[in-house]
This record gives sequence, structure tokens and C-alpha cells, in this order.
Amino acid sequence: MNDENDVRPATRVIAAGRRKEWTQGVVNTPVWRASTILFDTVADLRAANASPNDRLYYGRRGTPTQWSLADALTGLEPGAAGTMLYPSGVAAVAMALLSVLKPGDELLMVDSTYEPTRAFCRNVLAPMGIATRFYDPLAGAAIADLFQENTRAVFMESPGSLTFEVQDVPAICAAAKARGIVTLIDNTWATPLFFPAIGHGVDLTILACTKYIVGHSDAMLGSVTAVPEHFEALRRTTHQFGQHVAPDDAALGSRGLRTLDVRLRQHQAGALEVARWLETHPGVARVFHPALPTCPGHEHWRRDFRGSTGLFAFAMAGGDDAARVRLIDGLDHFGIGFSWGGFESLALPVDPAPIRSATKWQAAGPLVRLHIGLEGPADLIADLERGLDRFVAEGAGAKA
Ligand SMILES: *Cc1c(COP(=O)(O)O)cnc(C)c1O
Repeated sequence: MNDENDVRPATRVIAAGRRKEWTQGVVNTPVWRASTILFDTVADLRAANASPNDRLYYGRRGTPTQWSLADALTGLEPGAAGTMLYPSGVAAVAMALLSVLKPGDELLMVDSTYEPTRAFCRNVLAPMGIATRFYDPLAGAAIADLFQENTRAVFMESPGSLTFEVQDVPAICAAAKARGIVTLIDNTWATPLFFPAIGHGVDLTILACTKYIVGHSDAMLGSVTAVPEHFEALRRTTHQFGQHVAPDDAALGSRGLRTLDVRLRQHQAGALEVARWLETHPGVARVFHPALPTCPGHEHWRRDFRGSTGLFAFAMAGGDDAARVRLIDGLDHFGIGFSWGGFESLALPVDPAPIRSATKWQAAGPLVRLHIGLEGPADLIADLERGLDRFVAEGAGAKA
């Protein structure tokens, strides 16, 4: 759709959003801090008021600092009309949903979605008269069997949070399109570099930029990129809710974007090395990594994705929460904390079963989610090996 898409993603992330009118020749778009914008005359102010988008108008509407990042993210999604930025990934999910749904509508939400997304359906959409029905992440084309008269939108997240099922996004989008139903995806795991969602048929694609776009665990940021039919409603909803991203945070997002390709390829290599090693350890029952054949929906990953990133999970071979706590507390190279996508490795105990409603989730033992950062994978493996060897020696970890 635009010429920028003729070059490789690695090249695109370098040039994206760096328009001369915004950079004035500086390599990085400068940080413009603004609330009031001054006009020379009342006539100029009125002219700005008549077409306030993409020009200096008022701080809430952004400055070249935010426009540059938004433009860059649009450039990574061939077929997109534009991108809106948000102060967090959760705000991006909320605004995307509110821009397409109205009272009386029904939303189909993937059962493996990020828990705060589920909470938004329950605590905000339901009281507004918008019903949510959860569906099996592996539904694929069979999603059509769930469509009702008032089904307005299908929300996907692929791979799923915590459990990593890879959805058949093209099949779901084709089924939805045939019925005039809008499709949204939380594409935080893959980013547009490894899964350009709009090219696969999605209408609105959401990123928690906090994760890989910022990439350094030092800013909160979200984005929604939309096709032309849905971008105007998204922009209107966003403005009416007064959403704004601080220029300093947008600049951190743009800075992160420049190294996204090289970072993702390193996260990919490190995570695959660790995941394949985990598969060989007797203290591990199962690894949930989209690029490994044991992952539910792996065939969709192989068909549709250009790569895999640093986040995956493994189930311990038996044991209880106390054993899991000992394992995680004993690791030297893994931080314990929420979020992911930074340069550092993280380990987190996760429990998907109680947050499922359409499907049942069960594993042989407690689940540990890992984010593999940019450390040397051999050090991470040695660390995990010490912990898992201790777990096996405790007796609970022996595979039956
Ligand atoms: C972290 C995350 C979010 C929310 O992003 P925040 O910036 O933390 O609000 C949304 N979706 C997924 C898949 C996430 O991992």
C-alpha cells in the first residue's frame, strides 16, 4: 500500500516516522513538550480548529514527537490508515473496544486473553449493556458457529497470554468479514515485525508498547493501528476520552523501535535455546512455546509468523506452588516482576486455570512463565539447570 513496505522490516524500523518536517534534520524527532500552541492570528486559530488533525493545535492532540511514533507504527502494518497512542496497553485495549462496540452488541473474546482485558469486559462493558462471550482459542473457522444477530466484534490474542495457543487468525477474520463483524487482535507478543496483523485480515491491531516497542522496561505505552473503515471512529473515541501520551514516553517508544528488529531476533534465539533445553530436563513436563511443535496452534505459527519472541511458559513435572516458589526464588539471572519485553530476563508463577470460562486448562504441574532477555542463553540455562536439578532432587520432579 505504501512504498515503505517494499523494504525489509529491519530497514523499515530505521526510517519509519522520521519525516523531515518533524525531525528538522535531527536524526531523532525532538521532544516537543506542549499544552498551549500559539497562533499568529485569530484567523490562523480558526483554520487550525477546522482541521485539527496532524497539525499543531493543542497539546492533547500531540506534537511531532507523538505523530512520529504513530506514523512509524502505521508504516509497519501494510493496509493501515493510522495509529493512535495510549498511556498503557490496557488503555489501548479499552479504547479499541469502545470505538467499535455499543450497548446491545455482543463481543466474542478469546478465552486465553490477558486477564485485565477480561476484567474490562466484565467491569466496564457488561454494565454498559455489551455482552461478552468467551471462545476457545483454537476455534478457527468454527468461530462462525458462535455468531449471533448482535455479534459485533471478535477479539483475538495470539499467542494467548500465559498459555500461548496460536490462533487461526486468517480463518477467524474471513468468517467475521463474511458477516460484517469487526476483528481486533492484541498483537503484543509478535509485534508487526513478526506478525503484520492487518495483512492477515485484522481490522484493529493493539500493542502494549510497554513491552517490546519501548523494550527497556522504563515507560508505559500502548497503540492501536486500524484499517481505513475503522480509523476515524478510533480517533474520535480516543479524543473524546482525552487520551494523551507524554512526549518523553513517545520518544522512548521511538528510540526502542529503532532496535526492535535486532532485539527481537536475539530474544528469539535465546528463548528457543532455553525452551529446547527445558524440554530435555526431567523436572519439566511440558514447554509452551509457539515455535515448538508441542504448542497448541503451532501449525498456525509456522504458517503465519515471521519469527518468535522471548516470552513462553513451562509446566513443572509435578510439584506444588511451594516447589515453584523455591525454584523461582532461587534463580540468579531472572527478575521476579510483572510485564516483559525489556532487555532483562524474568520468571513469574502463573495460574491460568481460574481465569478460563470457555475452555479447561490443566497441566501436569505448576506453570512458570519466562521472559528471555538479552543475556547469554548459556548463563540462563545454567541458572535454570541448578534450580530444576534441586527440584528433581527434592523428589517431586521425577517424570512418571
Ligand atoms: C502487558 C500486556 C498488556 C497491557 O499493557 P500495559 O502497558 O501493561 O497496560 C496487554 N496485552 C498483553 C498481551 C500484555 O502482555
